[in-house]
Amino acid sequence: MDNCIFCKIVAQEIPSYKVYEDDKVYAFLDISQVTKGHTLVVPKQHVADIFEYDETLAADVFSRIPKIAKALEKAFPEMEGLNMLNNNKELAYQSVFHSHIHLIPRYSKKDDFSIHFGDHTKKYSPSELQQFADAIKAQVD
Ligand code: AMP
Ligand code: ZN
Repeated sequence: MDNCIFCKIVAQEIPSYKVYEDDKVYAFLDISQVTKGHTLVVPKQHVADIFEYDETLAADVFSRIPKIAKALEKAFPEMEGLNMLNNNKELAYQSVFHSHIHLIPRYSKKDDFSIHFGDHTKKYSPSELQQFADAIKAQVD
């Protein structure tokens, strides 16, 4: 896609620190290096976000993740964990609109990375939760 920075990286029209490539995906270091080894995995095919995936593309992309995660673990034995993150749309912090999965190695609780999960366990009644589940269930293809 024209003017897509990640399409240009995939096409090697602009440089990247490539860590893995095959016919379906391209993986490279995130320029921001939230932690050492922070890697992005992108489908070679341009899709903006998860809502544009079909099952085949999802299988192509997500099936590559474990081998890249294991490579990070071997490359950085001091790694003690890994966060995988996929932001979809601006409100959810997506800033590059070519879908990508962040692999963020974790080395310490003092890493410059955090996720806040608010605890709203008591916010909804069982019947409201059942309504949410039913609404979603009705839409799954
Ligand atoms: P997101 O905010 O989830 O859309 O993540 C986009 C990521 O792309 C950010 O973490 C950026 O640091 C990263 N990024 C943007 N441009 C480049 C680039 N040219 N090479 C590597 N990473 C990039
Ligand atoms: Zn693209």
